[in-house]
Amino acid sequence: MHQDGDSDRINIAIDGPAGAGKSTVARKVAEQLGFIYIDTGAMYRAVTLSALRKSIQPQDRDKLAALAATLEIEMLPGENGQTVLVNGEDVTEHIRSREVTLVVSLVAANETVRTILGNMQRRLAERKGVVMDGRDIGSHVLPNAELKVFLTASVQERANRRFKEIAGTQSVTLEQLAQEIAERDRLDEQREIAPLICASDAIVMDSTAMTIQEVVAAIVKLSRTKLAEAK
Ligand code: C5P
Repeated sequence: MHQDGDSDRINIAIDGPAGAGKSTVARKVAEQLGFIYIDTGAMYRAVTLSALRKSIQPQDRDKLAALAATLEIEMLPGENGQTVLVNGEDVTEHIRSREVTLVVSLVAANETVRTILGNMQRRLAERKGVVMDGRDIGSHVLPNAELKVFLTASVQERANRRFKEIAGTQSVTLEQLAQEIAERDRLDEQREIAPLICASDAIVMDSTAMTIQEVVAAIVKLSRTKLAEAK
């Protein structure tokens, strides 16, 4: 028996490569379960944006670590998912820019940055009832999460989805997007600290031929089973 109603809640980790649909899926799963959605990629993006603004090179380990320690990152529930504040400034839109996307994996390889953000993420999940998406949530940040999903899709399909999403707003070709996604996967999989990896107890879902609704329904179903088990 849990003492504070925790048995009504579980933690759900959704990991996987760039553009597999994790954020959309995690947000909808959280909505359906009445859980809190936490996008950990947004935290790495927030540090990256702050570094770019201060002209700190992603490879400059010490400066980056010192910067990360000064940032107050807040994640608030917003209309379209989550509002991200850095030292009080709303950076929700800025962290999605191409400049940030192109270097975020270099920033995410920094050990101190990972320690700081990982600790924040663990604190956010302490009371359970969280759907957290990222790269190392099931394997590293929340190894005891009751449900772990590794969501993936082919590089081509992920590039197609991203291409449709940005539909003419950025001058980038489908081929470029596919290359950038593959490069981000490579950096995330090959870094030394907490790389992108499928936890041994994660359920693998390949969404290449699935709709968002199908993926969401499958995860909600699994969650309800885990919730019943946790009672
Ligand atoms: O999920 P999103 O694509 O916004 O993540 C941006 C980047 O942040 C990833 O490519 C990865 O380098 C980093 N990241 C990470 N660990 C996480 C979440 C994101 O290293 N848990």
